[in-house]
Amino acid sequence: MNLILLGPPGAGKGTQARMLQEHFGLMQIATGDMLREHIKHHTDLGQLAQNYMNQGQLVPDLVVIQMIEHRISEADANNGFILDGFPRTVPQAESLDKMLARRKLKLDHVIEMRVDEDALVERIAGRFSCAACGEGYHDKFKKPAREGVCDKCGFGQFVRRDDDRADTVRKRLAAYREQTAPILPYYQAKGKLTSIDGMAEIDVVQTQIRQLLRPQA
Ligand code: ADP
Ligand code: ADP
Ligand code: ZN
Repeated sequence: MNLILLGPPGAGKGTQARMLQEHFGLMQIATGDMLREHIKHHTDLGQLAQNYMNQGQLVPDLVVIQMIEHRISEADANNGFILDGFPRTVPQAESLDKMLARRKLKLDHVIEMRVDEDALVERIAGRFSCAACGEGYHDKFKKPAREGVCDKCGFGQFVRRDDDRADTVRKRLAAYREQTAPILPYYQAKGKLTSIDGMAEIDVVQTQIRQLLRPQA
């Protein structure tokens, strides 16, 4: 099964994708995480991407398209994947269609997570993640069971993203409205799009998605 999770920054794409990965064995492919890995390892690609990311702008299409092309060719994506943060522009969506067609793969669902903008700002401001395994947390909505210790791996250090500052967040929301929202009608026209309520609690959102994937269960 191949899925796309769509939604503005802070909608809960990463949170839901990780839960789906655990439950269904699908591979989460998150372009934001991949770009941050490049930055961490000081690659050329990372250096290029960092300037855009710090300013809340999208990284050029060609860069992310090539990155995704590589990634979906890898063996662990054969079982199915969840794209989290890609595509983000119409040209990215068109390229994705071509690369899937070449590999005789199909998209099963494009899931739009709808969230109020006011809630997004609060979600992003409180976001942090485990420095070892990347598990995502929130100061108010998803605290580790034991303070200062990751639920998943037991590590005791956490990180916050450089671009989760209020001024950058506003630019990222604008980029979503202007550049990413236009891909909703693209998938709607193909009959692939389902919108779900991303304002519900984390587990309730997950239930909505699983019901969509297994309508008879
Ligand atoms: P995205 O990947 O779409 O940017 P995240 O999954 O990182 O979003 O979620 C953003 C923040 O909001 C995280 O701190 C996460 O723990 C929290 N969060 C995610 N889903 C919900 C939800 N349904 N209700 C409240 N907080 C949530
Ligand atoms: P969020 O879910 O909070 O928006 P991501 O981790 O998905 O954050 O993305 C962080 C940043 O990485 C984006 O603001 C953008 O600069 C860059 N990025 C990630 N995915 C893409 C993409 N598909 N196209 C262009 N830029 C991207
Ligand atoms: Zn961890």
